[in-house]
Amino acid sequence: MTNLYFSICALFCIVLIIVIYFSKERIDSKETQLYGYMIVSSFFDVVLVMFALSFGYMNLKKIPLTLIQLVNKIDFIYYIFWPTALLLYMYYITYNDLKKYNKLKTVCILLDVIFIIIEFFLPIVIINNDGIMGVVGEASTFVYTVAIGYIGLMVIILLFNIKKIFNKKYVPFIALIGFLIIGLYIRYINPTLIIIPAILVYVDLIMFFTIENPDVKMIAELNLAKEQAEKANNAKSEFLSSMSHEIRTPLNAIVGFSTDLKEKIQDEEQKEEINDIVMASESLLEIVNGILDISKIEANKLEIVNTEYSFRKVFDELVVLAKARLGEKPLDFRISYDESIPKYLYGDYARLKQIILNLLTNAIKYTNDGYIDFSVNSVKKDNICRLIISVEDSGIGIKQENIDKLFSKFERFDKEKNITIEGTGLGLAITKKLVELMNGKIVAQSVYGKGSKFTVAIDQVIVNKEIEEEKKELKTTVNDFSKYKILVVDDNLINLKVATKLLESFKLKIDTCESGFSCLDKINNDIKYDLILMDDMMPKLSGVETLKKLQEIEGFSIPVIALTANAISGMKEKYLNDGFNDYLAKPIDKIELQRVLEEFLTK
Ligand code: ADP
Repeated sequence: MTNLYFSICALFCIVLIIVIYFSKERIDSKETQLYGYMIVSSFFDVVLVMFALSFGYMNLKKIPLTLIQLVNKIDFIYYIFWPTALLLYMYYITYNDLKKYNKLKTVCILLDVIFIIIEFFLPIVIINNDGIMGVVGEASTFVYTVAIGYIGLMVIILLFNIKKIFNKKYVPFIALIGFLIIGLYIRYINPTLIIIPAILVYVDLIMFFTIENPDVKMIAELNLAKEQAEKANNAKSEFLSSMSHEIRTPLNAIVGFSTDLKEKIQDEEQKEEINDIVMASESLLEIVNGILDISKIEANKLEIVNTEYSFRKVFDELVVLAKARLGEKPLDFRISYDESIPKYLYGDYARLKQIILNLLTNAIKYTNDGYIDFSVNSVKKDNICRLIISVEDSGIGIKQENIDKLFSKFERFDKEKNITIEGTGLGLAITKKLVELMNGKIVAQSVYGKGSKFTVAIDQVIVNKEIEEEKKELKTTVNDFSKYKILVVDDNLINLKVATKLLESFKLKIDTCESGFSCLDKINNDIKYDLILMDDMMPKLSGVETLKKLQEIEGFSIPVIALTANAISGMKEKYLNDGFNDYLAKPIDKIELQRVLEEFLTK
């Protein structure tokens, strides 16, 4: 009776496993495949055992011996097959090598076929103990030897990879060994107990929870959610790109014309008004740039571009920019550099400038009287120079409870007090992200009402050689471009006017046209230019398409610079890839323009 109870429990268990396992969507892997074989074979074996047990109830003597022998021999196939599947499983999870796994599988199948054939020819002896069937004989000894052999191989695999023993995937095997020891002891006490099929079913059950079988439905749902998120993110990037373009195009005109007017107007009152326009448009541009920067950083699209640079030149430029922002504020602007800082460094100086300018701008914005102390110190080790940059002010200060929130997006403090100070609360968030991207550190200290101090530490590589460009630049500080002719291509008339105004200040000969087609006509008609500035977003024939056609013209060798209001990250790389020689963002920065002119005209 105990045997029957065992078998009924095992049957119930294996049916449940099979139903759950096969009704759930599965990933198709070697592990799940082998597990499928194992549970199906376990099911057939439990059924077979129950069939054999029923002989005992019927009176064994009346059942033909060959039938009993056949049932037992079929049962033996299971004792060969199940350990083989577990061995293959162990091998696969341990070595994860599909080629070797397939080889082993072929060998195992061949061996199993041979073993099964041998097992069928070996004698089997059925003993009848008052209706309880016992199986002995060479066939059974052989089968148990094969099974033990396979288990031995599994032990060897585990011993060679003993470090992996705590991996949950090995739990079924360790449980099998444990169960077998307990099983053998029980058999020793009660030799008539048929316990092995139940043990193997329990191992199947444990394995159900340990095999790698993720919920395919959930994965599909997650993938869908991921796809949607990616779509939304792309939509955001596209929106930003077009926003950048749409806002920058009119801004280009405002900045360009107002800067030009500022230089021409003599009337003091008008000069002040135009100055306000220049400042307002510049801060609007800064806001647009800030929003673009933060979204670039969040999309992990902001790259650090390291180049060699002259420390003094970069920092002097910074001071000029900061002083311009200081305007009429009666602040004592103190500057000190550590004299031992190497002349030339290697790093992303543009981002470094952005970081420091943000801090200096804040110090200027939030300090009404007193001083601003800008100092740069250094610590050198091997070829690394750690710049320790600090910006200290005697301004309004920051409350202690706000220090932690300082570097979060859109956080602004003391709003009532700072109502007249422009800002978005993005500056420090960008600054911190940039510092982190450059593997640096930033700390803020402040006494409310007394002042603040921001300290940044960033490592830069020391460059020992002189940078050649630097020397050249000294020779050609004031360039005379009057002998050069430049063509500007843009479908927007206002943009053309702005560019012309800017270029006029460099005394160039300027020609303009409003489409890619007329640009092609000019070149085809052999009009000679030294440089072409080409807008990209033009109707019918874009800048990129025009460039492609220009390059098809025989002997065409004029440098072409992309001109675009689309200043979202990655654009420079995109245009360079498209074959442009360089890239200028709108509104055109006069210093950048000068750089391009010098690089492509004077070379
Ligand atoms: P924004 O200046 O555009 O508002 P920031 O991210 O640069 O944005 O600064 C966030 C806030 O931190 C500011 O609004 C201001 O309240 C405070 N803050 C930053 N720098 C200083 C400073 N040097 N002194 C006093 N408060 C500052």
